[in-house]
Amino acid sequence: MHIPFCPNPRCRYHHHKPACAGDVFRPYGSYATAAHGVVTRYRCRECKRTFSRQTFRVDYYTKRRISYREVTKRLVSCESQRAIARALGISHASVRNRIARQARQDIARLLELLPLATCKEPFVADGLESFCYAQDFPTHYTVLAGSKSQFLYGFTYATLRRKGRMTAAQKRRCKRLKPVYQRIVAPLSESFTALCEQLVRLCAEAAADRIVQDTDEHPAYRRAISAHPVLSAWRRCERYVHRTTSSKLPRTAANPLFAANYLDREIRKDLHEHARETVCFARNAPASLERFVVYAAYHNFEKRYRINQPPTDTTTHGEVAGIPREEIRAVTHRYRRTRAFASKLPLWGVFEEVWFRKAPTAFKTTPEYLPKHCKAA
Ligand SMILES: [Zn+2]
Repeated sequence: MHIPFCPNPRCRYHHHKPACAGDVFRPYGSYATAAHGVVTRYRCRECKRTFSRQTFRVDYYTKRRISYREVTKRLVSCESQRAIARALGISHASVRNRIARQARQDIARLLELLPLATCKEPFVADGLESFCYAQDFPTHYTVLAGSKSQFLYGFTYATLRRKGRMTAAQKRRCKRLKPVYQRIVAPLSESFTALCEQLVRLCAEAAADRIVQDTDEHPAYRRAISAHPVLSAWRRCERYVHRTTSSKLPRTAANPLFAANYLDREIRKDLHEHARETVCFARNAPASLERFVVYAAYHNFEKRYRINQPPTDTTTHGEVAGIPREEIRAVTHRYRRTRAFASKLPLWGVFEEVWFRKAPTAFKTTPEYLPKHCKAA
């Protein structure tokens, strides 16, 4: 097997390719496994670290082979994790584990392919409201979509305070939850500012000369845009335009917010945890974000652009956003075979938050468990 690099992030052959890999990474015995057959071990001549061919595979450290495609296909078809476990004859923990692995492969895929989008269409930003742990902890996914492609360019996540109509008992309970809210709630404008950062980064990479962004009339959006230094500067030189539309207008294809409304509908229909009145709601914020990333990559690079297009037409939302089909195929193929390493990726913003499981969950005060396959090596 070809060894691409040393898995030790502190070794010089982690970041620099050796002239002759065969000289640096020497075979160092082997071991038999029930799931993956005989696995050859190697040792790095430089740092003396030993590793195996499995170190570079998505199935690193697993004891059983499970199809990632099958798990993803079922997850994005509104199946609950327990239903997937029952259908595949595996445990619920195995399903969670494979979704977490797939999420990291998909982060790598998104980070590599997002900069290839041409950003020549107006952007639409809006929020999707759900909840995590209990309805007292509403969550807000702010999504950034392409108005023509419905490509999901970016998203942010925030936990909000419970609002809206409540009974007297619910009001009393929310009052008692104040210390929990203080720990996990972030203002919506902060979450929207992070989304603006993603927009600026994308447009700077694509050298987009005119950026149009549609949102509804939420005052937090306007505040975040006015306070953003780059967007304000771009607005002054007419490179950036912010348009607002009332959220009360009919949600038709002619609505400027159609792309966000469409994504809202698709996510609610495809991910069981976001369906109305679901009993399969999210219990853990980092795990919910991992499922969202898996859905984002599936929506962008695998799902057909329109269900009514002929079956032979496999155009995806990513292709409509200007990403070449060959690039999508090559990157997807690579990340189905080889494991993504945190130390090899330019992780930032929400991607870093998902990878290192940083999102806070109500009543959880201890650090989230970070499995070995999530670490650099
Ligand atoms: Zn090494």
